[in-house]
Amino acid sequence: MNNRQDDLGAQALHVLESVFGYSSFRGEQAEIVDLVTRGGDALVLMPTGGGKSLCYQIPSLLRDGVGVVISPLIALMQDQVDALAEVGVRAAFLNSTQTFEESSRIERRLRSGDLDLVYVAPERLMTPRCLDLLEASKIALFAIDEAHCVSQWGHDFRPEYIRLSILHERFPNVPRIALTATADHQTREEIAHRLQLDNARMFVSSFDRPNIRYQIVEKANGRKQVLDFIESEHAGDAGIVYCLSRKKVEETAEFLRENGISALPYHAGMDFATRSKNQARFLREESIVMVATIAFGMGIDKPDVRFVAHLDLPKSIEGYYQETGRAGRDGAAANAWMAYGLQDVVQQRRMIDESEADETFKRVQGVKLDAMLGLCETLHCRRQRLLTYFGQSSAPCGNCDTCLNPPRSFDATVAVQKLLSTIYRVDQRFGAMHVLDVLRGVDSDKVKQWQHDQVSTFGIGSDRSEAEWRAILRQSIALGLVAVDHEAYSALKLTDAARPVLKGGEKVQLREYQKPVKSRRTSSKP
Ligand code: ADP
Ligand code: ZN
Repeated sequence: MNNRQDDLGAQALHVLESVFGYSSFRGEQAEIVDLVTRGGDALVLMPTGGGKSLCYQIPSLLRDGVGVVISPLIALMQDQVDALAEVGVRAAFLNSTQTFEESSRIERRLRSGDLDLVYVAPERLMTPRCLDLLEASKIALFAIDEAHCVSQWGHDFRPEYIRLSILHERFPNVPRIALTATADHQTREEIAHRLQLDNARMFVSSFDRPNIRYQIVEKANGRKQVLDFIESEHAGDAGIVYCLSRKKVEETAEFLRENGISALPYHAGMDFATRSKNQARFLREESIVMVATIAFGMGIDKPDVRFVAHLDLPKSIEGYYQETGRAGRDGAAANAWMAYGLQDVVQQRRMIDESEADETFKRVQGVKLDAMLGLCETLHCRRQRLLTYFGQSSAPCGNCDTCLNPPRSFDATVAVQKLLSTIYRVDQRFGAMHVLDVLRGVDSDKVKQWQHDQVSTFGIGSDRSEAEWRAILRQSIALGLVAVDHEAYSALKLTDAARPVLKGGEKVQLREYQKPVKSRRTSSKP
């Protein structure tokens, strides 16, 4: 190491201590700060809570000029700026919530070199006025936060992000650092490609969050199950309950409140004032349970969220990881809990089928959903599965439900054959409920109406309960043996993959059905 680098390291450490009050860098922070301060480009993949902000804040302070932070999270800019002001950093933001006078004042400060950091919303940055302003100012670096928003396949896609490659063209000598907590291989490539980060060094931190305990249970009555879970394991704790629809958010929040939990709703359909008020209470108070759609959470910095619960299946592992990652940012034990059932599989598949997107997009979404289902149905360590998805390896963790309480599997070949034949016998024209009735020999009106008590498979599944059959059907759908035809009243159909199983050439191993039990308090030590 030469003297200059030594110097830089010492300066960075000095800023870390004197400005931010921390004694040492974490993980790869020191290396990233060093590279960017020297003018290099970086792509930083670090889990939520990993400490991404310092990676651009310190270089902004060490380099001449102002650090320009591009962030889609307008709602958080004020907090970020306030926090920086508190430690004596000259920071400001430019976004659509300001009056003309306010932004003019910030623009003057920018031009005169009176700012260390400025946060800018991407749509604002792209205006000719703003780009001209930046050209007239001295810029230390560009930090592109939440860089996964550039990915068209991701769930946070922002069209304005695509245009950020313009920064490279107009400011070729200004270093750029792109940061995200989403890091599957495809998104990574897409960020590098779309932002033209050809010469950027990639920093990939471990995505393991060892203090989070992953748990995925069979859904019976989701609301009741989440209430049991909160009461038995998280009384008085702050947490987030994710639901798919706004309606379900409202209903669940109300149900929890009726049962004595301080729950508040949050979704994009609520008026801005109420939403902000609920968010503020969640951040400030100790034991609020936020019931929310995925509109809630990006960038929320609350260290002591003790649990994240999902009442509906996320669309992808990236989504699941990002949402569960909001738990336990302080490093203390936290739970990621999810209730999952047949309906989730059917619903998510339907949402893909019915979306207006083109076929390529649907295919990618289908692959992502399959990976998510694989995580739900796995017989092995969940953490291992998660990390493998992000290209990282790990041993079985000992801190997830499948490690703590290994699920039993069974040879389900005969059961699945019974199911598949029944679907075939009713001409692949009926939905789950009816197929299971025929299989179990239930004399429903519909069975009588269609004379399905006459088919050869009527009642051959009477040895198992409806819940067991639903679990078998769910796994058969997840495995791609059965498809749900949303254009034909959700009729169950056999796929090509079903043939070898029906013919007896292929065995199927499934997770044994476990009756949902009232959750017991488990040791909360990770
Ligand atoms: P991210 O943006 O990656 O989610 P943040 O930058 O918000 O994470 O950092 C998460 C938390 O960790 C913050 O409270 C931050 O102050 C703290 N932190 C970051 N780096 C360090 C460090 N080197 N030492 C101690 N605390 C740190
Ligand atoms: Zn495990």
